[in-house]
Amino acid sequence: MQCRHCATELSLPVLDLAHAPPSNAYLEKGQLRQPEMHFPLRLFLCESCGLVQTEDFCDADQLFDDNYVYFSSTSSSWCAHAARFAEGAIARLGLTKDSFVVEVASNDGYLLQNFVTAEIPCLGFEPTASTAEVAARKGVETRTAFFGEAEAKALREEKPGGADLIIGNNVYAHVPDINDFTRGLERLLANQGVISLEFPHLLQLVKQGQFDTVYHEHFSYLSLTTVQKIFAAANLRIFDVEELPTHGGSLRVWGCRTTAQHMETPTVKAILQQERDVTITTGAFFKDLQSQADHAADALLSFLLDIKAKGETVAAYGAAAKGTTLLNYARVNPRILPYVCDAAPFKQGRYLPGCHVPVRNPIELRKNPPQHLLILPWNIKDEIARDLAWLSREHGTRFWTILPYPEQMEPPADSIPPAALSA
Ligand SMILES: [Zn+2]
Repeated sequence: MQCRHCATELSLPVLDLAHAPPSNAYLEKGQLRQPEMHFPLRLFLCESCGLVQTEDFCDADQLFDDNYVYFSSTSSSWCAHAARFAEGAIARLGLTKDSFVVEVASNDGYLLQNFVTAEIPCLGFEPTASTAEVAARKGVETRTAFFGEAEAKALREEKPGGADLIIGNNVYAHVPDINDFTRGLERLLANQGVISLEFPHLLQLVKQGQFDTVYHEHFSYLSLTTVQKIFAAANLRIFDVEELPTHGGSLRVWGCRTTAQHMETPTVKAILQQERDVTITTGAFFKDLQSQADHAADALLSFLLDIKAKGETVAAYGAAAKGTTLLNYARVNPRILPYVCDAAPFKQGRYLPGCHVPVRNPIELRKNPPQHLLILPWNIKDEIARDLAWLSREHGTRFWTILPYPEQMEPPADSIPPAALSA
């Protein structure tokens, strides 16, 4: 296989998670007895450009179909993050009713609705029809399409001035053809326009052993060093970068045309230096990743077997892609983990791909409180623990985080209602 950016032949695997189904392929009951597709899940490092990428087996159409069930609005902390971003961008770039904002992978309109409210013209691209429909109901104009050079060219013909701001939050890493996507950004961008992309930072993934963020739909694992190269190949440059706590540590890069006037901030050089210091584009940086994954999987399996041996009850919370990677790699099954709860109605009543753990409505926790609760999406563990603090208070349920091994967590102190604080 060749590197998706620079076409160098890839020869350095840095992580092997055996075989896994596409992580968002939730199953209906009737599908449990049918054959199920599993694809090898391996990461390769391109030693030429530094792009870390999944091995190619299935095309995007198999991964993101109309049954895709991730609705951004189901996470309240994510919506708050989006609202803060919109407010900051409007102020920083001086956006008005004469501006034009485009969001790529606009999901259910959770971000663009803030621009609609501020009366700034905007448009979203969203390939999955079910989420695009929800966005349209919020008044967010949405094109049901993958974004790339061809779509950008077509839109530019309708809007000759181009976009003053193009946003891609948590999409860049999920794009199969990152070069075509980046050329699309360049095509659509106004001369002094600005691009803002957020993606999980490869530096944090490896430092913190977050191997469960690896799944087929997540094609690229990005450093600033590599993104700068990909931008440069499309006549774009990065003039600012921020480190964010989201998804275990993300970067938000701000880009523009190479010819635009935006001044480069010192942070760009500082983060590039951090990445050079850890030799992020060499195999040496990844030497512990496989053993971290193996230990985490073994520890989770022992933990669940131990609970079963003691005759205690357990459930999990959060049927997100990263949980599915870990559960499948650890070979967890419904005999040792009877169910996972999730607030997203579209997942409830279905089954996690591969491990076939049923997804239930969180109301199950009230009806049948378990003694132990595994919180799978560690990136929003505090939010989940706060929402479920009553379970711990009223029923003594113990909360556990899962990486690097199951560890008990206390519900955060701010789970005390504000009224109690002022008393
Ligand atoms: Zn490459």
